[in-house]
Amino acid sequence: SSLFSSYRYESTAAASDSSDTPPAERYEYQAEVSRLMDLIVNSLYSNKEVFLRELISNASDALDKLRFLSVTDPGLSKDAVEYDIRIQTDKDNGIVTITDTGIGMTRQELVDCLGTIAQSGTAKFLKALKDSKDAGGDNNLIGQFGVGFYSSFLVSDRVVVSTKSPKSDKQYVWEGEANASSYTIREETDPEKLIPRGTCLTLYLKRDDKGFAHPERIQKLVKNYSQFVSFPIYTWQEKG
Ligand code: ADP
Ligand code: MG
Repeated sequence: SSLFSSYRYESTAAASDSSDTPPAERYEYQAEVSRLMDLIVNSLYSNKEVFLRELISNASDALDKLRFLSVTDPGLSKDAVEYDIRIQTDKDNGIVTITDTGIGMTRQELVDCLGTIAQSGTAKFLKALKDSKDAGGDNNLIGQFGVGFYSSFLVSDRVVVSTKSPKSDKQYVWEGEANASSYTIREETDPEKLIPRGTCLTLYLKRDDKGFAHPERIQKLVKNYSQFVSFPIYTWQEKG
């Protein structure tokens, strides 16, 4: 089915000059992703705060995966890094950063996971939404289904995902903007941003949603969700 059609690939390599760092490459979202993002933004408008639940649950899933795979492959987590989730707020700049020390993603996984909706909870959400419409039901499916990673665009103009998988030597950066039909992937070259493993997600909040960068607001939401998460969640405020 078209749901599983492959992404379109456009390399910008030809346009770049000769520099040491490989250029960012631009990819088109699978058509369903663009539709889903519109749907999320329109149907969850008054439940924007679900983004945090989704991102914490992804962080927790990534830690679970690493813990599980490490049982048979201890080399995966040989670095002495704790299994945890850290949420940093910068209210002056309207930025929220969510970092986990989980399994991370390879470059190909970034394309497969954050450029398509195949095999994602969001696909189930879409189907449930369609089924409930077919049955004449209402669309109040929030809370029953994870709406996934794309919910970060409910509150963000721009999302940057820097991630390191134990399967890859390199760390990669996925970058997307709200209402865009494409995203980019590049290698992480900023030494200050290198992490031993896991994923660091940076949300550049929309003007009207910068309130989510207030530590009290985040802490209150985290308190609600953290009871379902089996890893420690630390929150702190960036010094102004
Ligand atoms: P779901 O969690 O239901 O699969 P999402 O849209 O929330 O759907 O996430 C899509 C996929 O992206 C996940 O299945 C996972 O493979 C990948 N992913 C998202 N966040 C992370 C993360 N923090 N670490 C590793 N992989 C992630
Ligand atoms: Mg998820």
